[in-house]
Amino acid sequence: NAVIGIVGGGQLGRMSAMAAAKLGFKTHILTQDPNGPAAQVSSGITLGAYDDLAVLEQFARAVDVVTFEFENISADGLDCLAQHCPVRPSGAILRTSQDRSVEKTFLTQAGVPIAPWHPVTDHASLQVAAEKLGFPFILKTARDGYDGKGQRRVYTPDALTEAYAALAPRALVAEGMVDFACEISVMVVRGANGTVRCFDPAQNFHRNGILDITVAPAPIAPELTQQAQTLATTIAEKLELIGILGVEMFIDRTGNLLVNEIAPRPHNSGHWTMDACPVDQFDMHIRAVAGLPLPPAQRHADAVMKNLIGPDDMALWPQIIATPTFLPHLYGKAEARRGRKMGHVNLVFPYSGLPGALGIQDALGPLATPDTTEN
Ligand code: ATP
Ligand code: MG
Ligand code: MG
Repeated sequence: NAVIGIVGGGQLGRMSAMAAAKLGFKTHILTQDPNGPAAQVSSGITLGAYDDLAVLEQFARAVDVVTFEFENISADGLDCLAQHCPVRPSGAILRTSQDRSVEKTFLTQAGVPIAPWHPVTDHASLQVAAEKLGFPFILKTARDGYDGKGQRRVYTPDALTEAYAALAPRALVAEGMVDFACEISVMVVRGANGTVRCFDPAQNFHRNGILDITVAPAPIAPELTQQAQTLATTIAEKLELIGILGVEMFIDRTGNLLVNEIAPRPHNSGHWTMDACPVDQFDMHIRAVAGLPLPPAQRHADAVMKNLIGPDDMALWPQIIATPTFLPHLYGKAEARRGRKMGHVNLVFPYSGLPGALGIQDALGPLATPDTTEN
């Protein structure tokens, strides 16, 4: 009856802990919030900072294997934990995904196509990036960004200085703006014995920089599905991943796949698997972390996932809970602050071999958002 340690106390930790419980594991959380989403459903908690050595030692003594549920933690801390027990995925993988420059360099070395980019550390490198990329382009902080935070779109040369000032002095990357036809993600999981499984690609729609809706399967040609899963598999193998990882990709107007970023953890765009797959992303992750076999990543239904973000979406709660076809997943967060992910709703439909058969707006009914295509 092994104890799985989870660094981080948010909703991804909560749903991982619930999956672990199904397989008979206890979970022990390292968090600063004793009442957070993961702590509420775990058997043990170590309270404290992720980079405090004494705290890490105490946490390590309570667990048999460690995983993490968010990325803005110290990779050095994970290395320290690795002296006591296996850390899955490894601190090295976290280090790669934490810094966009390192991540992009890794992807290119792995032969994975990405958008053109340049590192930006000062005004001179900013000018070079602008000349090479042309306008518009996107400036992003190399580290610590999520939900579109730490990004500025630069449309004209006059806007350069202001965009730079808003993000500097942190290290930045400048990325060419991809005029994408579709944004998709693939959840890939690799077991301790090297077995790799990929879920079907799903299409993602963002609102205000935050994931709003995911549709599975993505309405793309079978060849693109194959290519997307091959890229995800390459990434998992090159990283020697153990655990699950989300790969965000663009499909440009000419049908080319470009990887945007990777996240070595369960991913919001994989929540549809919870009601459309016999073994969902959290089950797969826990199996990988615990060294158990990975069954095929089967899907038995089409699905739409709608995030419940902040007070506006939570205002729909009475309607959601009264509608039997809406499958709710709440995270147990007390306050519905603006932009905060409070939960999600899945809708499932009979399995179709016809991606795109699903009309999102029709499927979502009252949960449909006015403009889901805006980023
Ligand atoms: P996440 O919450 O997924 O970690 P993030 O803050 O790390 O988000 P990105 O995923 O890099 O940010 O960007 C957020 C969204 O902005 C993307 O999902 C995409 O819709 C859009 N975007 C980012 N980079 C580009 C690009 N180079 N071209 C076009 N759109 C982009
Ligand atoms: Mg990100
Ligand atoms: Mg992203």
